[in-house]
Amino acid sequence: MADFTTLGAKELQGLKAELEKRYSAFQSRNLSLDMTRGKPSSQQLDLSLGMLDCFTKEQFKANDGTDCRNYGILDGIPEAKKLFAEYLEVTPDDIIIGGNSSLQLMYDTIISAMVHGVVDSDVPWGKLPKVKFLCPTPGYDRHFAVCESMQIEMINIELGDNGPDMDTIEKLVEGDDLIKGMWCVPKYSNPTGITYSNDTVDRLAKMRTKAKDFKLFWDNAYTVHHLTDKRIELKNILTACTEAGNSERPLIFGSTSKISFAGAGIAMIAGSKNNIDFRKKHIFFQTIGSDKLNQLRHVKFFKDLQGIENHMKKHAALLKPKFDAVQDVLNKELAGKNIASWSNPDGGYFVSLDTMDNCAKAVVDMAANGGTKLTPAGATFPYGKDPRDRNIRISPSLPSVEDIKLAMELVGICVQLMSISKLMK
Ligand code: PLP
Repeated sequence: MADFTTLGAKELQGLKAELEKRYSAFQSRNLSLDMTRGKPSSQQLDLSLGMLDCFTKEQFKANDGTDCRNYGILDGIPEAKKLFAEYLEVTPDDIIIGGNSSLQLMYDTIISAMVHGVVDSDVPWGKLPKVKFLCPTPGYDRHFAVCESMQIEMINIELGDNGPDMDTIEKLVEGDDLIKGMWCVPKYSNPTGITYSNDTVDRLAKMRTKAKDFKLFWDNAYTVHHLTDKRIELKNILTACTEAGNSERPLIFGSTSKISFAGAGIAMIAGSKNNIDFRKKHIFFQTIGSDKLNQLRHVKFFKDLQGIENHMKKHAALLKPKFDAVQDVLNKELAGKNIASWSNPDGGYFVSLDTMDNCAKAVVDMAANGGTKLTPAGATFPYGKDPRDRNIRISPSLPSVEDIKLAMELVGICVQLMSISKLMK
């Protein structure tokens, strides 16, 4: 395929005319496709239907005899703590099983830090003139929205193939005690799909921070969400931090939203015993305990970590053809043209597409007018502002393979048209 950046005006004009015809043909089909949010498809949700009747009316007791129908147990029934401690690679003492959403646990942890501080704070964060967070970009829009809602200043950090730019991070955290936290999606990151290298994990664990109560918000949302048989390993952050003498640094989050039911699974927070005891102290005022029947259902359905791994293979079998469809069409439409690059992840829920600078917003608008909704351009950056206006998050999990092919063809056409109009200026 011809590199667009080497073509003359006449050749570009010719290509433009052809692409415009294809775009008009799309418009006349009145399609209504949606590639916006990373929701599981109904076929994926069906995989966990057995959870709804995996125990009978008589089996409502936890192994220790706790009646799961009743109040009590703030941090989760022992068998749920055991299973999900193994899942997050911590010990059962180092975990709290929460409600249905890890995002809520993250929000709650930060608002609690604003009001009360974290375990090693001298002052509640909210009493400081300013609080700042490091935000690897592109990243998860809702992390950034949490900070924005609390007026926490966000600092963009470039995310590469091995994790965020550690040289910049080390310099910043060493010099500024108002930098209190950093968002991390360390495995199959949202949206680029990269996993932090061992070196990145070690440097995050060891780095000197001016704030003595600096926290890594380690959102391990996609730890078992492999798309292939290749297993990407992530170094254990709690162990690395403990070995570096910084055991209170990581707060680890996870959930079964994309394992069992999205919004009706179970979420957890893990970390050092001090961190967990501190969180429990504050959660005590919020709730008498999370939904133990749901915890019991999850344990009875999955049984053990191998059960979760086996279940994730079924998800992968449904998701992989969708991710392949994205790659096939993007390759067909855009490869070799020097106008875009995109990720080809081994796991997670997203493909990250970079257009030429200053084209993403126009591509998203044009795709919408052609019948395909995409996540708004800029959403993967703090304050919704992509400084280069080039990143588009593609979420292939929900639509059918046929719809994905159509939607991606349209996206490919829009990217080409916008690139040509940029090159012709
Ligand atoms: N963390 C990341 C990185 C996500 O991508 C998502 C959902 O897309 C969540 C958290 C939300 O998780 P939960 O449903 O447990 O709140």
